[in-house]
Amino acid sequence: MFQWNWKEFLINPDLVADVQQLQAMLENTQVSEAEDRWVWLPDSSREFSVKAARLLIRANVDISDRYIMDWCNWIPAKVNIHLWRTELGKIPTKVTLKNRNVLLDDPVCPLCGSEEETVDHLFIGCHVASVVWNGISVWCKIPNIFAFTVRDLLGIFKELTVSDRKKEAVQGIIMIACWNIWRARNNFVFANKPVKIDKIISEVKALGHFWFSNRSKYKDIEWGDWCSFVNM
Ligand SMILES: [Zn+2]
Repeated sequence: MFQWNWKEFLINPDLVADVQQLQAMLENTQVSEAEDRWVWLPDSSREFSVKAARLLIRANVDISDRYIMDWCNWIPAKVNIHLWRTELGKIPTKVTLKNRNVLLDDPVCPLCGSEEETVDHLFIGCHVASVVWNGISVWCKIPNIFAFTVRDLLGIFKELTVSDRKKEAVQGIIMIACWNIWRARNNFVFANKPVKIDKIISEVKALGHFWFSNRSKYKDIEWGDWCSFVNM
């Protein structure tokens, strides 16, 4: 029970209504002796965490039709992010620049000169890319890499019937190859350095071994085994 102790009479009808509402709310309220604390109602533990907040925000959002790129843990973030942006069409290929009114010339691929430079062309359709993928397939002893889109390319490792270790390796190798094709393309466009496909592939091997043997959970891979892709 509450004993009210007003300084003046309540004559304003709005205030009277407010007080009545307040009394109705307090009717079933029990005040305990326990210390006050904050609780996070959406979680059964009543504890707040960033995860609980994320689950709350996502609870009513259907993201099942959204593409989420598989991150590769043994290659650096810069390579993962490059592929993530590539798949979204956010890297500055000539077609992307033209669509944003940055480039006024013909958006033709600088490597082959035969088609417009989209991400799917540069990383799949271009003859430079197809020779790189052929070399990578032979080296990794997997069926010929074949894709229509960058998204297909990023999912190829999942379709392979090989050990988990080899799947992880191939996932990263494909991403490093895309990164190196982009670097070779930029070196050609901005520094006039000729594109050498065997150099792209040898850099994929060297960087791949360096990162796989230092950053993955499989640290025992020898350079010779990596080059001949045995024991994978
Ligand atoms: Zn091309």
